[in-house]
Amino acid sequence: MHNSGRALADATPAGAGDSNLEQRLEAAMPLTGQGQRDCGNRAKSAAHPARVMLCRVDSLTDLSHDTSELRLAIEDGGRFGFFAGQYAQIEFAPEFCRYYSMASTPAEEQLLFHLRRTPGGTAGSYVAQQLKPGDKVKVSGPLGSSYLRDEHTGPVLLIAGGSGLAPMLSILRTLLAREVSRRVVLYFGVRSERDVYHERLLAGLAEDHDNFSYAIVLSEPDGASSRRRGLVHQAVADDLADASAYTVYLAGPTAMVEAAGKLLLGRGVAGCDIHGDAFRYPPPGP
Ligand SMILES: Cc1cc2nc3c(=O)[nH]c(=O)nc-3n(C[C@H](O)[C@H](O)[C@H](O)COP(=O)(O)OP(=O)(O)OC[C@H]3O[C@@H](n4cnc5c(N)ncnc54)[C@H](O)[C@@H]3O)c2cc1C
Repeated sequence: MHNSGRALADATPAGAGDSNLEQRLEAAMPLTGQGQRDCGNRAKSAAHPARVMLCRVDSLTDLSHDTSELRLAIEDGGRFGFFAGQYAQIEFAPEFCRYYSMASTPAEEQLLFHLRRTPGGTAGSYVAQQLKPGDKVKVSGPLGSSYLRDEHTGPVLLIAGGSGLAPMLSILRTLLAREVSRRVVLYFGVRSERDVYHERLLAGLAEDHDNFSYAIVLSEPDGASSRRRGLVHQAVADDLADASAYTVYLAGPTAMVEAAGKLLLGRGVAGCDIHGDAFRYPPPGP
């Protein structure tokens, strides 16, 4: 079977991210089902060389009750070449190195990340309590094989869970900056209203681009809400009986990425057109 993103998967440290998503989905459901497309020998993008950059914290702003946006200016070791959808390792201090996906696009000079604090998370606590503008951090990358594929020209489906919105925004804004007609649909799943962020940004993009639409889906709404309810992949299932024309990008919790991947295989998407990064903890071993 065609292995999407091999060139970059090779550059990814063992166990980081989710370069094995395709194999795991294949094990869960053979990819030879009726109606699934044969991907043939798709061209592969050349990898960007990995680099280590010294960066300065430009700003750290709250996006929601538990998620912050980190903006970094590269001071040394750049310019950072990457594909929309990839991630990097950020070293806040020698004992706090974690993976985060770029929310900025490759065309932007500064780097944007969405940092979610998990209960008891040590790097998250360090960021919340100690990191401040002017501090220096090290960024290494790019990493990951779940990046925007240029060889597929059909509609694009993006599914994000929580801070998985970061790489989806990088892909989305890259596509919208250059495409006038290609359909792009984003599903953003969070638990409850207080977890929703960047809604104004999404609404503005939808207003400016007729080919883009999005849905925010709450899995645990804590009161009356006009938003869609349920697990985000279920909302996709309700809307798309046949998804075979789409290229799909997924990011967020492992359970969400795997459930959405399986669903889309069943809805006719070829395995090589499903690209996902699970924000797994801890990253799986080699
Ligand atoms: C490919 C990849 C991309 C990622 N991109 C992002 C990103 O863009 N934004 C972002 O916020 N995070 C992202 N992560 C997750 C991030 O790297 C850290 O794992 C996370 O922020 C927790 O780090 P911590 O030091 O705060 O928690 P740790 O101190 O490492 O963990 C403390 C405790 O928190 C719990 N925990 C930590 N993380 C999780 C989790 N994800 N799910 C469930 N329980 C957890 C565990 O139970 C653990 O015992 C990504 C991870 C991967 C593998």
